[in-house]
Amino acid sequence: MVKRTHSCGQLRIEDSGKKVLLAGWVHTYRTHGKIIFIDLRDREGLTQLVFDSEYAGDVHKLAETIRCEWVIAAEGKVRPRGEGLENPKLPTGQIEVLVERLQILNESATPPFELLDAEKTSEELRLTYRYIDLRRPEMLNRFRIRNQVTKLTRDYFNEVGFWEVETPMLAKSTPEGARDFLVPSRVIKNTFYALPQSPQLFKQILMVSSFDKYFQIVRCFRDEDPRADRQAEFTQIDVEASFVDTDDIIGITEKLIARIFKQVLNVDVGLPIKRMSYQQAVDEYGIDRPDLRFEMKLKDISDIAKDCTFKIFTSTIEKGGVVKGLCAPGASSDGAFAISRSYIDKDLTNFLVDYGAKGVVWLKVVKENGKLTCSGSAVKFFNPEQIEKLISRFGAKENDYLFFIADSEKNANKALAPMRCKLGRDLKLYDEKAFEFVWIVDFPLFEWNEEENRFDSMHHPFTSPRREDFEKLESEPGKVISQAYDIVVNGSEVGGGSIRIHNPAIQQKVFDLLKITRKQAEDRFGFFLKALDFGAPPHGGIAIGLDRLIMILTGTDNIRDVIAFPKTLKGQCLLTGAPSEVDQKQLDELNLRIQKHSHEEEPEKKT
Ligand code: ASP
Repeated sequence: MVKRTHSCGQLRIEDSGKKVLLAGWVHTYRTHGKIIFIDLRDREGLTQLVFDSEYAGDVHKLAETIRCEWVIAAEGKVRPRGEGLENPKLPTGQIEVLVERLQILNESATPPFELLDAEKTSEELRLTYRYIDLRRPEMLNRFRIRNQVTKLTRDYFNEVGFWEVETPMLAKSTPEGARDFLVPSRVIKNTFYALPQSPQLFKQILMVSSFDKYFQIVRCFRDEDPRADRQAEFTQIDVEASFVDTDDIIGITEKLIARIFKQVLNVDVGLPIKRMSYQQAVDEYGIDRPDLRFEMKLKDISDIAKDCTFKIFTSTIEKGGVVKGLCAPGASSDGAFAISRSYIDKDLTNFLVDYGAKGVVWLKVVKENGKLTCSGSAVKFFNPEQIEKLISRFGAKENDYLFFIADSEKNANKALAPMRCKLGRDLKLYDEKAFEFVWIVDFPLFEWNEEENRFDSMHHPFTSPRREDFEKLESEPGKVISQAYDIVVNGSEVGGGSIRIHNPAIQQKVFDLLKITRKQAEDRFGFFLKALDFGAPPHGGIAIGLDRLIMILTGTDNIRDVIAFPKTLKGQCLLTGAPSEVDQKQLDELNLRIQKHSHEEEPEKKT
């Protein structure tokens, strides 16, 4: 077997004159009769090979048979490219290799799409031929970064005394509250394992076992519908430590994040990262993962709107709702785009339909006789004093637009938060390359579930209330604040965790409020509750979404770009054809019977 002397990304002008052997894939092929140029590609880059019929006739002849994506090895001499022929975009762009010996290691069928055109190719085709798609330099680079991040993570946690411990994949249902993937047991008939939604209970039990500091880069499984930024199977950097408080976990985590951003992107993350309460985030940004790259805070104007003559506003407020809004500049920061009637009536209104908003009311801030006032069809509902108050509430300037949504507070926020982000994007209010981090803290412990008429955990049932709120578990559970924290960057939640309950009585109280009966708690988490009885130390932890972190570091909004073998929105692996039917024998062994319904869709076949 031929041995490479260098990678295809390695040779520089200083290497001129050296005899080298490169191996890789034929990226591009250009022939000028007597001279053939091939860009040879491997994981590390591209190098230009030159085949000259006058220099090595036989080799040139063989090179004429080569096609793109064939695998070859070429031996030859490094030489500077001719004057004016350098390619400053390539690290190897100053040199080429004049080939003396050529070996074809393997041919390739014609690829179903050209690497250079991959962005224009359907994602379905790219996923079906994932091995070709992954050859693209931009894809390889994402996995280079992913590897860099996991290595940095392991090094960091080892430095600060954490042990990596593996926890089972064949497990029992865990508490994140999503649907489980189930795996039938062959040995104990009619029983099932659940694939872990996270190692939550195992990592807490490791604390009971005095492991003190744990981390794991771990796969988690939640049977939820995949989205652009979510996969049913994903990876977390999972962390737990004993005898710690919120500040400890936040400190450990943000130092890791800062190290990753520095090493991967040379970006300095200012520490400590600022903190914002859940309430402030929801009030000012309408969401608990605010994008802080730009201001545009939401304001509640119900106190002004309650006295206007606009029926929709006044009746919403009478019913306990709010009128909330934001103020946007009339044109983008580069002046290339301006808010127009058609932008409001079409773009914005259509966008808002997806977020359940019935409509948006707007006013434009204008100057009349040197004084700021408003124009627009809704202006007639407000008297001059109210208009003045609105302008001053938002600190609005000439040509700004005020947008309002009237609804329950929850629904208004649901529409305003994405609308704020859309306006920020369309109006270019932030630097695309900036990163704004924030810790969201002081979450409520519970969220009221209207349909089920009970509380749900905002994080999971093992999250501890603040010490000073223990009593409120009895008197005002809805007002209890938890010791949970989420880390958010540019409007994306990249991690979350909490200090845990280590006192069995408090844990029981929380289960009661969640209407988890003693029997249910025993069946689902009995093993864990028992462990809490045997000297559980105070402990807490966090999990960082590795895939999402890599998406942010590599600037993609498609989670499938950072997972080597991802699933489609239907949960299919187009490369392998999973999920697929299985043999009757396998079903029999598992004591499973498949029910065929006449209306059942045929499973989609891989083409
Ligand atoms: N297990 C939690 C999750 O996956 C994270 C944590 O609380 O540590 O969201």
